[in-house]
Amino acid sequence: MEKKTAVYICTGCGIGDALDTEQLSKVATDEGSVPICRNHNYLCSQEGVEFIKNDIDNEGANTLIIAACSHRVMYDAFNFENCIVDRVNIREQVVWCQKPGDEDTQMMAEDYLRMAMAKVDNMELPEPYKPEEEISRDILVVGGGLTGMTSALDAAKAGHSVVLVEKESQLGGFQGRVQKVATFPYKGTEDNDLEALIQEVTQNEKIKVYTGAKVDKTVGGPGVFEATISQNGTTAEHRIGAIVLAAGWQPYDPKKLDEKLGFGASPNVITNVMFEESFNGGEISRPSDGKDVTNVAFLQCAGQRDPDHLPYCSSVCCVTALKQALQIKAQNQDANVFVVYKEMRTPGQSEDLYRKAQEEGITFIRCQSPEVKASGESLAVEAEDELLGEAVIMEDLDMVVLATGMVPVTAFGMDITQEEKEKKEEDEAKKGEEDLDDIPLDVIRRSDLLNLEYRQGPELPALRYDFPDSHFICFPYESRRTGIYPAGCVRRPMGIATAQEDAAGAVMKAIQCIELTSQGAAVHPRVGDMSFPEFAMQRCTQCKRCTVECPFGAINEDEEANPLPQITRCRRCGVCMGACPERIISFKNYSVQMIGAMIKAINVPEEDEEKPRILVLACENDAYAALDMAGINRMKYNAWIRVIPLRCLGSMNLVWIADSLSKGIDGIILLGCKHGDDYQCHFIKGSELADIRLSKVSETLNRLALESERVRFETVSIIDYDRLPAVLDEFAETIDEVGPNPFKGW
Ligand code: SF4
Ligand code: SF4
Repeated sequence: MEKKTAVYICTGCGIGDALDTEQLSKVATDEGSVPICRNHNYLCSQEGVEFIKNDIDNEGANTLIIAACSHRVMYDAFNFENCIVDRVNIREQVVWCQKPGDEDTQMMAEDYLRMAMAKVDNMELPEPYKPEEEISRDILVVGGGLTGMTSALDAAKAGHSVVLVEKESQLGGFQGRVQKVATFPYKGTEDNDLEALIQEVTQNEKIKVYTGAKVDKTVGGPGVFEATISQNGTTAEHRIGAIVLAAGWQPYDPKKLDEKLGFGASPNVITNVMFEESFNGGEISRPSDGKDVTNVAFLQCAGQRDPDHLPYCSSVCCVTALKQALQIKAQNQDANVFVVYKEMRTPGQSEDLYRKAQEEGITFIRCQSPEVKASGESLAVEAEDELLGEAVIMEDLDMVVLATGMVPVTAFGMDITQEEKEKKEEDEAKKGEEDLDDIPLDVIRRSDLLNLEYRQGPELPALRYDFPDSHFICFPYESRRTGIYPAGCVRRPMGIATAQEDAAGAVMKAIQCIELTSQGAAVHPRVGDMSFPEFAMQRCTQCKRCTVECPFGAINEDEEANPLPQITRCRRCGVCMGACPERIISFKNYSVQMIGAMIKAINVPEEDEEKPRILVLACENDAYAALDMAGINRMKYNAWIRVIPLRCLGSMNLVWIADSLSKGIDGIILLGCKHGDDYQCHFIKGSELADIRLSKVSETLNRLALESERVRFETVSIIDYDRLPAVLDEFAETIDEVGPNPFKGW
């Protein structure tokens, strides 16, 4: 498209009072030779928007630079179809954080306008990505338990065809083995009516059910997944739009528990799951001889909230124990039932169950470390009652029930085979890349659920405590594989009602994914982004950095190690762009060249002017937002700062550091999200990769004979806005002490 650029400068929100906007206009018209440059005192108003539209319709303006508020606000007002639009943030990040009417404030605004003009010169209008294959709207649900069946029904009700794959010979999962469920508000227990749900699923014309089946292979990406399903020696292929992984959980292995909990010492020490399974015909009896039970102890948190076993709470065991204890009481009102707990956790209406148990005479003993004493027929529990402050002995017990926890099935993979491991090591050796940040072997464990043909391994990465959830804070249901959404107990431990809600949540995400993919747009977190990475393959050196570093496994590779981007899997973070040493990956509206041009557009004053320049490369998800927040709160910071927002700090290409330093910029600070186990990076490891890349920058600094203090990495979250001005001011002081960049003026 032939560009016709128009610059609009808003003088509202205090901008006109703090800046010489006539002078600012001259930067556009005189320096930038922009044909249209206009001021308006309320640009985001209907009248202001019409003012811009008039130029689009009558003057042919199609490349719009709007110098006003942050791009994080008023995006609906300034959304003009078929136009390149860039926003220059002269409100939050200039006039609201700098001295009004000051020379340095004016210089800052002018630089931002120069940077925007350089930016749009290097931008093209993104075109939506359309795969060659037709987009499928079908949803694959892996797992036919409560969550899987609910997901399948929810998706079918929303009009999607569903393929439901269950490894067992019948639907139901663990919940299918539960006889009674508690009703809330608590009125007792009732028969588990999973059969009705199973019937609803099997009779729904939109749901194709495979039982005794597994997914042998999944290739492609959102909209164009191809799933191969095997059942009874036959295979079927399905084109799939998105996947819900509802593969469920398994109980923690009680044999791994501490000996003092007594599992294995007596057949009458069982787990909460064994209790459910043996509650046949609505009666529970003593496991060793089938006699009635009259003395029973429930020991809570057996191997849970315990760093040596499951460090987390499985969230349902207290309520389950109360239900089971009340079932014993219902069976035999005279039974002595004890619940030994660390803390009782009965959220919401399940508190009713707790009260009912107290009314029924169930005895609660608070103890962190009870001990089971089993010898022959005799079974007892010793507990130090924290509330009474004395030891309690529960003797002549018929049964002890241990509350063991829930482990996601993603934890039960077989490790990769020796053959696979050797091949991987051989590949690495061949590559000779010592510093390649490759995927650790444990992440590519095969749990045999999805069998993805992805360069980065066949399953969802098992993350903290082996759950595959991508990000606990911002993005529930997201996994590190685009278009695949974990739901139910594979995502985190949960009870019946929550699992049903979870199923609906994951299905909503799957539907969103299909809709956005069919529009050629990105899914979360850059929802609706039409740009995507393009690879100038003729210059690719097959270094594999992009395939290895893509946080979402969106790039496969062929046998010659050529990257094979799978665009519908791509989240448009730009990490591959930052990783590529050849700089051959770019987006229509985001490229190494574009940011390089923005850096070059900064006006760097001569040394004797004593106006150092500091480049801030800020993650636009948190750090840039924090800078806006500082402005909104009218917090002032150093005027030497020039900020460039990045999609993710992981998209930072080291050439920008070299470009900045050789241009004479005095200091560079990278503001990215926290990384590590409790990372907050929206693109998982982007900020970590940026930090790693930056650690290698000393070579550049040495080559240029520059001080290492000139380049810094800081982790910032959105709530750090109040400390951010101090961080920037302190960095500016350091740069002042270090002195001017000797490359100034070159
Ligand atoms: S690194 Fe980011 S932009 Fe590049 S292919 Fe992967 S998801 Fe897409
Ligand atoms: S990082 Fe760049 S040069 Fe390396 S394989 Fe990917 S595209 Fe090719």
